[in-house]
Amino acid sequence: MNIVELIRKKREGNSLNKEEFHYLLSGYVEGRVPEYQMSAFLMACYFRGMSDEETLTFTDLMLHSGHVVDLSDIPGVKVDKHSTGGVGDKVSLILAPIVAACGVPVPMISGRGLGHTGGTLDKLESVSGFRTDLSIEEYTRVIRETGLVMIGQTKEIAPADKRLYALRDVTATVECIPLIAGSIMSKKLAEGIDALVLDVKTGRGAFMQSYENALSLAQILVRIGNHFGKETVAFITDMSEPLGTTIGNWLEVVESVECLRGIRGTDDGSADLMEATHHLAGAMLFLGKKANSISEGIERSKQSINDGSAYKKFLQLVRVQGGDVGTLENLEQFPLPKYSIEVRIHEGGYISEIDPLELGLTSITLGAGREKVDDAIDPKAGIVLNKKVGDTVADHEVVAMFYTDREDVLESARDRITQAYHISPARPAKKKLILSYIDRTGVRKWE
Ligand code: URA
Repeated sequence: MNIVELIRKKREGNSLNKEEFHYLLSGYVEGRVPEYQMSAFLMACYFRGMSDEETLTFTDLMLHSGHVVDLSDIPGVKVDKHSTGGVGDKVSLILAPIVAACGVPVPMISGRGLGHTGGTLDKLESVSGFRTDLSIEEYTRVIRETGLVMIGQTKEIAPADKRLYALRDVTATVECIPLIAGSIMSKKLAEGIDALVLDVKTGRGAFMQSYENALSLAQILVRIGNHFGKETVAFITDMSEPLGTTIGNWLEVVESVECLRGIRGTDDGSADLMEATHHLAGAMLFLGKKANSISEGIERSKQSINDGSAYKKFLQLVRVQGGDVGTLENLEQFPLPKYSIEVRIHEGGYISEIDPLELGLTSITLGAGREKVDDAIDPKAGIVLNKKVGDTVADHEVVAMFYTDREDVLESARDRITQAYHISPARPAKKKLILSYIDRTGVRKWE
């Protein structure tokens, strides 16, 4: 086989078979295919796409490039959730303990912040001592003992994806649905799950900004999961404003803890966060056979907040993974950043839009995210939204606060956050958060 021929074949829009994909990918991982040829191949995929069959083959090869965890001797249907990423999306922190408290084991391998979106790992690591770098043996022990484990990507799992993802990042080939699908699913299928619930985000704060692209991605993700024998469903959810009221790692932990304690999340700015969380948890409980329908699962999810069992499970997880539970019980003792700045809107009215992309990017400049892969994160940095879309605001009222140690960004951050808020004289129509549901039988609008 000849690599140039394979690149040309894809460039001309033809499909590659399994042997050809194998030749290319194994050659890349073993160093026989140089980065420049793989880059050319990725760009050909970006323009020509892949058939569903090719996407399945590609995923299969990436999945088997490393260790596939076997949790079959742990009782119960093991279910995970994956989100394609959004701004203020701290759902995993709340949902995983809810689902585990309801009796469904949750093995979760998460990522770090990517671009303007935050990552579960960075949030968890803002809890002092919390270890996300467990070995596969520790991962298996923790899920067995706790019914829940939350760790970061390990080098044993889908190593081909790790290298390819880094290459895609620097060759402008990330935004390609089959490549994204293969990348996400190879990692999820390797972590030992029996079923998977996906949260595919759409809107300005999402990677897939248009609904049509989000739907295409959701459909191929569901198809891949089911093809590999893991019951997989997806929700498409709106990301046209940040989820909840906080953006930034420790701030998001605080909001999550308050939602887990039930002191926020019903009729305040965290209500959208809890609506998303309960739907995803409901689907996980349904797939995990602890509820007869998603709506019954949603009720069980709410109960676990009301009876305190979800919060208890979260504390257990933090303790088992080395975190300092004391900091969660005394949230106010966390060190304060140097600057706490108010953002005011000059002319009042209704908040018609809060640009999540702009706020996500601004939070990076405050220190809450990374500009380069090896940048350090400041867990204290971030933004708190006092007002959400649909709220009224008076002239000169404070709509948000931001927190940082960086003096040089204070002015620009204030301007950017002010501009992210759009005001209108009339109340905006309420947007739906949960848009569609996709399973092996097809797509339906979520009512
Ligand atoms: N997340 C992933 O894991 N892979 C992608 O390609 C995009 C988002």
